[in-house]
Amino acid sequence: MPEIYILRLGHRPERDKRITTHVALTARALGARGIYVSTPDKELERSVRSVVRRFGGDFQITTGVKWKPFLKEFEGASVHLTMYGTHIDDALPRVRDVAADKMLIVVGAEKVPPEVYQWSTFNIGVGNQPHSEVAALAVFLDRFSQGEGLRHDFDGHMKVLPCERGKKVVNDTQ
Ligand code: SAM
Repeated sequence: MPEIYILRLGHRPERDKRITTHVALTARALGARGIYVSTPDKELERSVRSVVRRFGGDFQITTGVKWKPFLKEFEGASVHLTMYGTHIDDALPRVRDVAADKMLIVVGAEKVPPEVYQWSTFNIGVGNQPHSEVAALAVFLDRFSQGEGLRHDFDGHMKVLPCERGKKVVNDTQ
């Protein structure tokens, strides 16, 4: 598996706090290494880092990233998720060939600027209907990793023990 990072474009702190947090937590839960957000948002950084501190892993968050040079100069394959792109089933074999070391997955919030379509290595549709960046990211990461993303061990001091009913959580600090 390559190291996977997310680039989140168009985040509006007052409107998108919840959904951008979900993009970050979904990325983390499915094995990505970090997220870069184009808009500065310290509160978003704090809430994602708080999950990482409790539940583990080495997921990074950086906000206020100048996305144009970042995307253009990224050393690895970049995958822009868009409903207008090549269907995921047709694109995945080529993505697997190209994305050996590092991969950047780009997701938008509102309308995505045209440069993103031009500069990304791949423009991929998770189906070609409009839905959500969280859903698109989750399906893409799960299919790309062939289910392995969800088997990642996070080694946090808080651990959920799967059970058929109710909740079992171990907290090693207690
Ligand atoms: N209307 C916007 C546009 O034309 O770019 C898209 C808004 S959508 C709510 C936000 C993001 O969700 C998109 O930028 C894209 O990354 C992702 N998304 C939504 N539907 C998708 C699909 N079918 N396949 C891949 N990504 C999708």
